[in-house]
Amino acid sequence: MTEPTRSGRPAVHPVRGPRPRALCRSYGASRGSVHVLLVIATLSAAYPSLVSSQASSLVSPDGAVDWNRFYTAAETDQILREFHALHPGLTELYRIGESLRGRPLMTIAITNEATGPAHEKPALYVDGGIHAGELTGSAVATHLVGHLLNGYGADPRITALLDTRAFYVRPKFNPDGSDLALIEDQSLRSTTRPFDDDEDGTADEDPPEDLDGDGWITRMRIPDPRGVWVADPTDDRILVRDPEMSMAGPRYTTMSEGIDNDVDGALNEDGVGGLDMNRNFPRNWEREHLQPGAGDYPLSEPETRAAAEFVNAHRNIVGIVAGHTSGGFVYRLPSASAPSLFPPNDLELILHLGEEYTRSTGRPVVPSSTHPTEHRYGTLISWGYWDHGVIGWVPEFSPGPEAWVTDYDGDGEIVEAEQHRFNDEELGGRYFSDWTPFEHPEFGAVEIGGWHAKFWGQNPPPEFLEEETSRQLHWIAYLAEQSPLIAMSEPQVSTVEDGVFRVEVTVSNTGFLPTSVTDRGVVGRERPDGSVDRRVVRAPVVTLSHPGLDIVEGEARTVIPHLRGSNPFLRAAISDSHTVTWTVRAAAAERAVRVEAASDKGGVARSGWVVVR
Ligand SMILES: [Zn+2]
Repeated sequence: MTEPTRSGRPAVHPVRGPRPRALCRSYGASRGSVHVLLVIATLSAAYPSLVSSQASSLVSPDGAVDWNRFYTAAETDQILREFHALHPGLTELYRIGESLRGRPLMTIAITNEATGPAHEKPALYVDGGIHAGELTGSAVATHLVGHLLNGYGADPRITALLDTRAFYVRPKFNPDGSDLALIEDQSLRSTTRPFDDDEDGTADEDPPEDLDGDGWITRMRIPDPRGVWVADPTDDRILVRDPEMSMAGPRYTTMSEGIDNDVDGALNEDGVGGLDMNRNFPRNWEREHLQPGAGDYPLSEPETRAAAEFVNAHRNIVGIVAGHTSGGFVYRLPSASAPSLFPPNDLELILHLGEEYTRSTGRPVVPSSTHPTEHRYGTLISWGYWDHGVIGWVPEFSPGPEAWVTDYDGDGEIVEAEQHRFNDEELGGRYFSDWTPFEHPEFGAVEIGGWHAKFWGQNPPPEFLEEETSRQLHWIAYLAEQSPLIAMSEPQVSTVEDGVFRVEVTVSNTGFLPTSVTDRGVVGRERPDGSVDRRVVRAPVVTLSHPGLDIVEGEARTVIPHLRGSNPFLRAAISDSHTVTWTVRAAAAERAVRVEAASDKGGVARSGWVVVR
């Protein structure tokens, strides 16, 4: 293998050279935490350089990070810790729970704490990697952390953003699954919790495996005169599908690399895990017969429970970006509801916010649910919208080889021959394993080889990772910039009569979104007297502190209507601003007032003390 010829593209891969031999043969006996421990032990033995790199720093003193690399969960946590150490005034680091295998679930809060703590500012929640192999989601989230922290004080846009807003970033939603996908090339969907995919009474007993020990789980091609695959006469690495049997040449049947561990006649039909944590959230959750992978009950997984508890505890979260891979588009709401039942004003708003993604990346935004009854049940963004009134997004980063492979003949299409030429000439051929003879215990003489699909399709090769992650950062920042933002005038104090004063403030929303974020946010319980309480998003509260003064008229704690913001879409919040007045009477010689306006989603504004005389 040669180094890549493209200048400035380091040959950085999390695991250099052959990967450690997969441990699939021991799955049957070592399911559970033992398995992950084995992974780590094997990694340490085979790759001292990788493990020792955790002792040296991954973030340079000037904040530089190699973004053309996929990082393990431990390395990602280390990056968060190092950024926290570099920017203690801009970050808080939280361990919000533990994964199934006992790994920390780390979340970093980012804001300029000198202008207020994160929980008093509108915040965007960003995560990645809920689906194990979707490593680019984690890479984008980690890159976002670096982009924000390196940009503070250097980039006026980022500086203004962190002075007024906050981010909560959880790059590794699913550290167990992500590491198994990254380190062992397993293709599990999500969590490593054992699951009986084929309902034979045993869980995870027949995963694919790395039979030839090259570190990759690829394909087997088995000579078969009736097989539908034919070797391309111009390049016999390429298999052409020919069900009509019209082409000449060696014919094959193909299967994923592995053996029939449980001798049931089916190959690789019950691999690691099987649950889908993005079907495990409480809103519109359904059981297995309607939603495969849903789990035994909503939030049955420690990783999803930690996410729900975090969002519940941080009412200042105004939006959710759940980073997935791949496809090169963004899934928008609705996700688990009939499109016809989705509130039209909120849909207009969502379409508007999505337009900026298409404008800035050239990629589409498409609905997650298009069917009146068949949905993706129990998704994070559905729960976020219906239960918290916030808009969530599922970007499917990385469109596939057309993003990095040269269209040599300029016909607008990337064919497999062009992928080979690019991989051979620019990447030293390292993302394709040549077909190599192997004596298979069940099929006899086969060949093992093919594309390294996890880094050539599902994710980009690491050489092109930063190109992919950096193009996402603008829109994520834009989403945070659209939040509601509370502002308040200084209290005006006027004398009504001797010893009696009137105090007045005007609270406004200077942001784009309303303080309810959506029309969904103002839905509440309608009382017999026509009032509404228990709203999905609580209305703003204005509180008067009044030492030395008694309130004659008005409430010290006044709930005001949701404030609209500059968006033209929503109807539920009517007014941009609201004036609150109190009448107070002197009760002591030392007298002052102070006002605080607090919106769950729009942040907190406080006046100074105003002496009343
Ligand atoms: Zn996904």
